[in-house]
Amino acid sequence: MTKFSRKRVMVTGGAGFLGSHLCERLLQEGCEVLCVDNYFTGTRENIITLLDNPHFEIIRHDVTFPLYVEVDEIYNLACPASPIHYQHDPVQTTKTSVHGAINMLGLAKRVGAKIFQASTSEVYGDPEMHPQREEYWGHVNPVGLRSCYDEGKRCAETLFFDYYRQHGVKIKVGRLFNTYGPRMHPDDGRVVSNFIMQALQNQPITIYGDGSQTRSFCYVDDLIRLFLLFMESDDDFTGPMNMGNPGEFSILELARQVVKLTGSQSEIVFKTLPTDDPKQRQPDITLAKTKLGWEPQIVLQDGLQETIRYFSALIAGNY
Ligand code: NAD
Ligand code: UDP
Repeated sequence: MTKFSRKRVMVTGGAGFLGSHLCERLLQEGCEVLCVDNYFTGTRENIITLLDNPHFEIIRHDVTFPLYVEVDEIYNLACPASPIHYQHDPVQTTKTSVHGAINMLGLAKRVGAKIFQASTSEVYGDPEMHPQREEYWGHVNPVGLRSCYDEGKRCAETLFFDYYRQHGVKIKVGRLFNTYGPRMHPDDGRVVSNFIMQALQNQPITIYGDGSQTRSFCYVDDLIRLFLLFMESDDDFTGPMNMGNPGEFSILELARQVVKLTGSQSEIVFKTLPTDDPKQRQPDITLAKTKLGWEPQIVLQDGLQETIRYFSALIAGNY
């Protein structure tokens, strides 16, 4: 890259929920953005407003196959993220995480690019340490229904650190906790999208189990801000680093909050808890705070309101 040229940044999974927000933000920052996606869960609608931008380019490509492009930075987000989607074709899910990581790390090594991995709180499994700190090795079932995702992401982390130690590739590994916001897939079965879609249509709100399990929800804008801060940080700061909002809520509290904010007539119903569903999850974000001065700024109520606006428009056919 010369002094006058734009930074060339590749985003795999760029047509997905998080990827589309990241592409948008990188364009605002003055980067050339190359979006790579096979549209398994992502859509062109997610990036439709970017298509006319001369600094934005898309390649339809599956990251389980090698890719040869010239870039300065890579954000590796390609991977279905919701249980319904990643359990649809579990072998492909593992391949996406593992072969995808090998291919993207190989590319980073060849062109000398810095590479970010969207890892996940799922590497902690059903955690016995609460809140979860990066030092915790996790409590993961290696043969369950969630394993294709959890173990795929764990193996990807291993690959990132081996490419770092063995080949000197510049890596950034972020462990993302539950994130929500506009452009979540309406049918992905994740709790925020499900509850909002159900509430807006006055359908029963489906709580799995008794609703006492907890999650911590980060609004998408807060997370994307952290992606960029992390990528800009010193090369010796590799992570793994937790990325999420430590505000912890039970699923029942979330359901009540969504009903209230939508003014819905929906009743709350209780269904069977899926297997291996973690009982609690909350990030310890001390590392992000001390190293990068980052803290989430958007409280759940405000983020939910933005997300409700998006899904209302979606239902009304305005997207
Ligand atoms: P998403 O499903 O909206 O986006 C994933 C994108 O990757 C989609 O556009 C999909 O089409 C694409 N993709 C899937 N397989 C691919 C392949 N083989 N080749 C090319 N593209 C492929 O999900 P998201 O919520 O935006 O998640 C993005 C990343 O962040 C994922 O890696 C996920 O594991 C991670 N993550 C997300 C969350 C969250 O709460 N959203 C939490 C933890 C980790
Ligand atoms: N959940 C629920 N009702 C739904 C969807 C999800 O009660 O309609 C629960 C789910 O069992 C889990 C939590 O909400 O305990 C978060 O689920 P999600 O799939 O969003 O994320 P993950 O389990 O991967 O954190």
